[in-house]
Amino acid sequence: MMRMTVLASGSKGNSTVISSSRTKVLVDAGLSCRELMKRMVIAGEDPRALDAILITHEHQDHVAGLGVMARKLGIPVYFTEPTHRAWVRMLTPRTTMSYAQWMEHVQKEKEARAAAAATESGEPEPGICDSMSAAVEASASEAVDPDESELEIEAAPTAKPKTDPTSLPSVEYFHSGRQFSIGDIEITPFTIPHDAADPCGFVFASEGVRMAVATDLGYMPPNVKAALKRIDVLLLESNHDLEMLKDGPYPWSVKQRVLSRVGHLSNLATAEFLERDYDGSASHIVLGHLSESNNQPELALLSAEQALSNHATLLGNRVILAEQTAPLAPITL
Ligand SMILES: [Zn+2]
Ligand SMILES: [Zn+2]
Repeated sequence: MMRMTVLASGSKGNSTVISSSRTKVLVDAGLSCRELMKRMVIAGEDPRALDAILITHEHQDHVAGLGVMARKLGIPVYFTEPTHRAWVRMLTPRTTMSYAQWMEHVQKEKEARAAAAATESGEPEPGICDSMSAAVEASASEAVDPDESELEIEAAPTAKPKTDPTSLPSVEYFHSGRQFSIGDIEITPFTIPHDAADPCGFVFASEGVRMAVATDLGYMPPNVKAALKRIDVLLLESNHDLEMLKDGPYPWSVKQRVLSRVGHLSNLATAEFLERDYDGSASHIVLGHLSESNNQPELALLSAEQALSNHATLLGNRVILAEQTAPLAPITL
């Protein structure tokens, strides 16, 4: 058994639960801790059963609730090292960090975790989710336009929380292209072209079922096309309609960034992938990371369905739209 529950998808926050019968992981934590937990409960997923959090990249719409969530649940966070470093830098109110300073930070974190384990006081105090999510929400609400907010490197919270915002119960590093396991889920991260430190997508496999998360990519390079073969449930970006983006409210520089090879996939690019390169293996294709300003759900859906309808063999693929404001019903295979 494997299950994908998309809690949120879009420029204002992304998070998805992937479960096998024994293991449960959260991919990205782009809403406040409180909101993520609320949505998990609505969707029938128990937050306390989470084994780990995996991060695709350090943009705010993927990490907004990360620190609070990990501390609240006392679970490890899996990053690539450059993504972890970028996340720490983002939350640290100085703009540059030398490698020596970074190593010092990692060492201090290790010592703090060892000390906490020794005194068995690693349990977060009750209410930490509530008190800190207020700070996270305050900083997130400043970013009215999240596509633009992704451009900002410094996103230091305005209110200084009591806990070091970069402290985590434990950190595990993975490398794109190298498979690793959490419980009985095999995970293969793959590099995606996006303007973050070391962004990636994931393929999850357990009990013969394969699910993939591929959003935040400027185009579909060969390694991503190859990673997305033999997938049973595919969460795929369909970010913007090209005409809406061109005529839309964004400043030219932001339009250029979204359109670039390290920006986001358009409905057209997604349709081209589905028509030309996709192997048709998924029973469910979930379209995600839709832009609120530059897309209409109907346009994204129509574009993907048209692409699939050109191949008789792809008619069994069900296309679903992920939502920003509410969790999707779990997809279980
Ligand atoms: Zn991003
Ligand atoms: Zn994003």
